[in-house]
Amino acid sequence: MLRLSAFRIAPRLARTYASPAAPNALVFLEHRNGVLDSSSLSALTAATQLGGQVTGLILSGPESSATAIENASKLKGLNKLIHSTADTYKSPVVEAVTPLLKQVLSDSTYTHVVSATSSFAKSLLPRVAALLDAPQISDITSVEHDASSNATTFTRPIYAGNAIATVKASSSIPIKFFTVRSTSFAAALSADVAEASLETLEPVSAGDVPTEHLKTSLTKSDRPELGTASRIVSGGRPLKDAKTFEDTLYPLADVLGAAVGASRAAVDAGYADNSLQVGQTGKVVAPELYMAFGISGAIQHLAGMKDSKLIVAVNKDPEAPIFQIADVGLVGDLYQVIPELTEKLKASK
Ligand SMILES: Cc1cc2nc3c(=O)[nH]c(=O)nc-3n(C[C@H](O)[C@H](O)[C@H](O)COP(=O)(O)OP(=O)(O)OC[C@H]3O[C@@H](n4cnc5c(N)ncnc54)[C@H](O)[C@@H]3O)c2cc1C
Repeated sequence: MLRLSAFRIAPRLARTYASPAAPNALVFLEHRNGVLDSSSLSALTAATQLGGQVTGLILSGPESSATAIENASKLKGLNKLIHSTADTYKSPVVEAVTPLLKQVLSDSTYTHVVSATSSFAKSLLPRVAALLDAPQISDITSVEHDASSNATTFTRPIYAGNAIATVKASSSIPIKFFTVRSTSFAAALSADVAEASLETLEPVSAGDVPTEHLKTSLTKSDRPELGTASRIVSGGRPLKDAKTFEDTLYPLADVLGAAVGASRAAVDAGYADNSLQVGQTGKVVAPELYMAFGISGAIQHLAGMKDSKLIVAVNKDPEAPIFQIADVGLVGDLYQVIPELTEKLKASK
């Protein structure tokens, strides 16, 4: 893999902030009905690696507020938890949260603002960073803070993961915003009892917000969540249609207790739901086991799964690029291999 040498982010800050030597990170924690997103737990781990104080910020509607606060305050590594409760924070739009985050950061001693690389944070953090005239580093895979120089060095994949950029944010940048690739950091664990001190924050009015949350449509599934599953069975274009995709892949996924993934070709052709897409424009996963059936191994697909611990590929074409990164490769027809494998796994249980 190509490793690019460091490039620096030039400070263009007009304003000055208090800039203490020790890192003081604020982590934006996301949750669904009070249950914290696992990607936020990875963001917390990244924040703890800065080596200083870590404060969490959690927003919720009134119904989920108690659960959200209880769950977040038990997180190991969190020194303090700031929470704010309002109807607008139940299913918030970024325009409603921006003024609050800006207020939390203004005249604060925070040195880093951290979140998962989630859809919401990808919209929120750059907005607030721009309002504070600060730069942002996105989708980082490692972080290291040098207390003596007060500079922070990150790595992040570029060119669909074919190169790793090393980016240094110097001490002259008082607040460093960064989002975290969750597959690169273990999820923070919970303690039995709350460890973080609590602070309640009044909601900040956003005035006339131009967007409105209408509804959330969730795909219901009893299977493990694709982003956090330890095993994934994934299918590509030769799975023909939605019924064949399900009839072929799901029995194997069931016997393995695996999540189901798909290539973009399978998603675009309508065989699989968008939420199952793995790759550059889909989800980035790093399970213990990734099984790719009838997936050629285009770089955009590899960008989403090449960090998997064990990659198994089944493809009719011995020249398929997926075999270059597979730990175990089988040249064969998936319509023969999958039923046989499923039966053997069932028999061995
Ligand atoms: C900007 C951009 C972003 C993209 N983002 C993504 C992304 O996030 N995720 C993604 O997956 N793609 C993405 N793509 C698309 C990507 O380039 C490929 O087109 C796509 O991954 C191909 O999907 P596939 O491997 O299922 O299909 P194909 O490339 O058509 O490969 C099908 C494979 O199945 C094999 N095969 C056929 N029949 C059988 C059989 N019976 N048994 C076993 N093997 C068989 C063939 O030998 C072949 O290797 C992106 C492209 C662009 C330009």
